[in-house]
Amino acid sequence: MNELGLRSKLRARPRAQGRVLAPAGLFKRLPTSAGLYFPFYHDVLGEYAGDLRRHLLAFRRLGPLISWDTALDVLAGRHPMTGPMFCLSFDDGHLSWRDVVAPVLRELGAPATFFLTSGLVGQPGNLTWQDCRDLAAAGYHFGSHTVTHPRLADADDDAAVREILDSKKEIEDQLGVEVRDFAAPYGNPAVDFGDRDLRTVREAGYRSFATTLREPMHPGDSPMWIQRQGLHPAWPIWAVRTRVHD
Ligand SMILES: [Zn+2]
Repeated sequence: MNELGLRSKLRARPRAQGRVLAPAGLFKRLPTSAGLYFPFYHDVLGEYAGDLRRHLLAFRRLGPLISWDTALDVLAGRHPMTGPMFCLSFDDGHLSWRDVVAPVLRELGAPATFFLTSGLVGQPGNLTWQDCRDLAAAGYHFGSHTVTHPRLADADDDAAVREILDSKKEIEDQLGVEVRDFAAPYGNPAVDFGDRDLRTVREAGYRSFATTLREPMHPGDSPMWIQRQGLHPAWPIWAVRTRVHD
C-alpha cells in the first residue's frame, strides 16, 4: 500500500493511527518550557469522551487551558506567558460538540473555540443553529471555518470571498455575536490556502487566522498565522507528544 493509502486507512482507525504514531513520541515530551499551544479536534464520539478528558487533564497538569481571547492577548504581550499554555479548538460542526465535548469541557471548566462550517449546520450528524446558540450562551466561543469547507487554494476569487464573508455573516446573524476568528479548511499553507485568502480574511474584518502548522507560538507572533496541533482523542499520550511538544 502506498503512503497515502496507509494514511487514509489509519485516519479511519484512530486508535491504530495513535499506536503507529506513538513510537515517535518516545523521543519527544509534552511541553515544559513557555509556549502557546493550540491543540484542536474534530468529531469526538461518545466512546472517546474519557480519552478527550485524559488529554485535557494531561495538558492542564502542565499549564492553564486558556480562551482564544487570552491566547491573542498573550501573542500581543497584553497577558503574561507563564509557561506552557493551551488554547483548545474544535473544527467543522459536529453534533458530538453538544453531546460529548461540552460536558467534558464543563466538568473541567475549560474554555474552547468552535470553528463552524456554517453550511454544515442542520445537516445530519451536525449541530443545529439552536445547538450553536446554546453553546454560545454557555460561554463557548465561535469562529468561522467557511461555508462549505473547500480547499481555498482551489476556489476562484468570488468563491473565496463568499466562503470567508458569508460564513462570518451567517454565524453572526444566527448567534448574535461578532465572529472575528477564522480557521482555514485543511490549513496547510503549502497546499490549502494562499496569500489571497489571508488578505481576504483580513479585509473581511477577522482578527485571527488559524493554520494547521504545528510549532508552538510566542509573544510577538502574528494572530494572522495561528499554529494549531491536530489531535484525535483516541490517541495515547505518546502519540499526542508527536504533535504537542517543546
Ligand atoms: Zn475542517
